[in-house]
Amino acid sequence: MRLSGIEITKNDSSYTIQCLLDDEVLYFKTSHIFLYEEQVSLFDAFVIAVIPVMIERQEMLYVDGAVDSFLFRQLNEQILPRLSKINDLQDVLQIQSLSDVIHQFDNQNRVTGVSCGVDSMATIKNLEEKKTQLDYLAFFDAGSHGSYGTKNSSINYEFRKKNALEFAKKLSYELIEVRTNAHKFLTGRFKSAHSFLNLSCAFATQGLINHYYYASAYAIGQSTQQSGDTSNYDHIILPFLESSYFKTSSTLGEINRLERIEFISDYALVQNHLDVCTNSVRAKSIGYQNCTDCEKCMRTAISLEVLGVLKNYNGVFDLDRYHKNVDDYTSSLLLKENTMHDAELLTLLKANNRITRNHYLIALKKKLKKSLKKFLKVFRK
Ligand SMILES: [Zn+2]
Repeated sequence: MRLSGIEITKNDSSYTIQCLLDDEVLYFKTSHIFLYEEQVSLFDAFVIAVIPVMIERQEMLYVDGAVDSFLFRQLNEQILPRLSKINDLQDVLQIQSLSDVIHQFDNQNRVTGVSCGVDSMATIKNLEEKKTQLDYLAFFDAGSHGSYGTKNSSINYEFRKKNALEFAKKLSYELIEVRTNAHKFLTGRFKSAHSFLNLSCAFATQGLINHYYYASAYAIGQSTQQSGDTSNYDHIILPFLESSYFKTSSTLGEINRLERIEFISDYALVQNHLDVCTNSVRAKSIGYQNCTDCEKCMRTAISLEVLGVLKNYNGVFDLDRYHKNVDDYTSSLLLKENTMHDAELLTLLKANNRITRNHYLIALKKKLKKSLKKFLKVFRK
């Protein structure tokens, strides 16, 4: 694969930087940028965005241009060897560039993302408590809102951004907005690439962001170094993602998902803006920030109920819908092979005597229904 032909154009309220990945355009649209003599010369953001594509295609990357010297070394000596091992690749992936340069700027802007989900809210509160002053909040569109170019992803994006903008405004932060088409080059699932895609957006500001706090999904003890979901190894890989003008920190390594929910649960702004929903199209149609149907909505709402604070969240969750769904959702946890977050929740529910005989009965009925369906399908053949 080859990156070439970097360009910048100024639009009304944003900048577009783009280059070619082989013969297709790869771009970032950013509301904020740090320009040196009105030029863009560094391929750094593009290189980071392409890392998941390199892994998928098992190909080297050639850059017809400059990459930051420190980043170049970190990628080739630290990050790519680790990623090659995690993904069980025969050859260690490498990047080659025409030149590597050092860019050091005076600005020292600290930034974190604000999706308004549990991890980003907990990161903001955690940094506040540690007296780490942030300079901006950021909202990225790098694939987390749905498949590239679809109508639903654009509805999800606008609906979530409106909420994030209001939240940032209440905290008196300017919002940096960056969108990219980098995920259109991937065939695999977004979770196999999300850390690199999001961080490429932070690099796309060309040095306006200098320290990015990336909200990890898991605690350090839950890191597995398994391929498939970058959250498995964010704590291990991301501290190496550095350039001469940029540093990455992976946050919240000391607490798991449930502890994070508890940590933010009494924060008034969270009660008005929490957005964990994976189906914002449905959420928008019922007039709440969260659809209160999808797994992530139910998992978060039930945790808040066990903590005794769900009633404070009646502005963002549809509590009637929650009470209608809760027994069915709880019984589903008894049926399947649970994810790490589901397993944590099931342990919490058991510890609080929230699993009743009725839940086991519903689970059993569901299981029987499924088996019967399977049997009839085979029988009819
Ligand atoms: Zn939802």
